[in-house]
Amino acid sequence: MHYFSTNRKSPLVGFEAAVLRGQAEDKGLYFPEQIPPLSDDLISSLAAKSNDEIAFQVIRPYVDGEIPDETLFDICRETVDFPFPLVEVSLGVYSLELFHGPTLAFKDVGARFMSRCLRYFSKDKSSKTIVIVATSGDTGGAVASGFHGIDGIEVVILYPKGKVSRVQELQLTTLGENVTALEVRGTFDDCQALAKRALADEELQKTVFITSANSINIARWLPQQFYYFFALKQGHGEPPVFCVPSGNFGNIAAGLLANRSGLPASSFIAACNANDAVPRFLASGELRPTPAVSTLSNAMDVGDPSNLVRVLELFGRDIGKAKEMLSAVSVSDEKTADTMRSVYRETGYVLDPHGAVAFRALSDYLEKHRGKKGIFLETAHPIKFDSVERIVGTFGDVPAEVATLESRTKHSTEIEPDYHTVKEILLSKV
Ligand SMILES: *Cc1c(COP(=O)(O)O)cnc(C)c1O
Repeated sequence: MHYFSTNRKSPLVGFEAAVLRGQAEDKGLYFPEQIPPLSDDLISSLAAKSNDEIAFQVIRPYVDGEIPDETLFDICRETVDFPFPLVEVSLGVYSLELFHGPTLAFKDVGARFMSRCLRYFSKDKSSKTIVIVATSGDTGGAVASGFHGIDGIEVVILYPKGKVSRVQELQLTTLGENVTALEVRGTFDDCQALAKRALADEELQKTVFITSANSINIARWLPQQFYYFFALKQGHGEPPVFCVPSGNFGNIAAGLLANRSGLPASSFIAACNANDAVPRFLASGELRPTPAVSTLSNAMDVGDPSNLVRVLELFGRDIGKAKEMLSAVSVSDEKTADTMRSVYRETGYVLDPHGAVAFRALSDYLEKHRGKKGIFLETAHPIKFDSVERIVGTFGDVPAEVATLESRTKHSTEIEPDYHTVKEILLSKV
């Protein structure tokens, strides 16, 4: 399998090179040259297959022998070793709960898969690989946990002081060992600028191999296809409508990729918060990104979604074709909070703000399309967002891991948003 850059000014690369580079030199995103058709056997016998087996069969053509089958199977098994239940919340509306992994959010799957691919590709290197990542909350925890204890890899996480939730901060700062948390006296943008500068620092690159674990890496993007198969495996009957709470559009792009390769689905809805660049784009045909605004569903506060280009590639860059399968809506904070309250009142189910955006978008759609069945992706556990208790009055059932987390001690290094400090810390990891 070859991967091309969506900007088409960089050479084709294989799986390993695409994973190690992350982003193509021309700043495009890597995209598979062909979309491998799934075997009929996989689709017709999903319910009889284990999650490990499904994951392996879905990802295998994309890796295309660059990791031996036996190792790849182990990687898949470790990646999906927690439950992905499908729960009926109201009549015909199902929640695919993606928050049963170690950091209680769906990003665990991509982070675990990527860390294990990097471990495999770094195994013969004499020097360490450094993974740097800036986070506004969810990504950092998933990456920290995914890479924790992986030999040969040091992880450096930059997060904005005072701007992540309590549980998120504990997830970032309590692992230790090969995970270093830098608490930056600044904003998420400051953190991102520092990480980008390190990745572009040629002098630094001469001494260490440094890469990112952000969401555009194919090793984080491609395994997100698994969720949709796990959902279908538990559903019965006709192909469902999938509704995906979307920020950078990686998750929904993975669902659409799965669909292009044969996963049955009726259609896809991208549920956005007030950051509505894509709903406006699908309506007008013009992309006008705006600076991100803060909302309750803060992991989706993205003004210019990077994976939109992958969505378009899937439809031969034909927006008309894309709209046959994909719609996008924007849900305000007010409606999100209303939905969280009414769903709790009527069903006892506690939605997190991201899942609530999707629940609302899906319910509105199903009202106009009677008789269809819908699945929304519940991307994080409510306990990760301090606002849930304020709005709903409860976090619902709190997983046992949270209590363990609370008994741990935070270890972080507080720094100014100053590149030289970051560089010194990176060099000390070699
Ligand atoms: C990252 C994230 C999203 C958005 O996913 P994209 O792939 O960026 O569209 C939604 N919900 C939660 C909880 C997240 O952490």
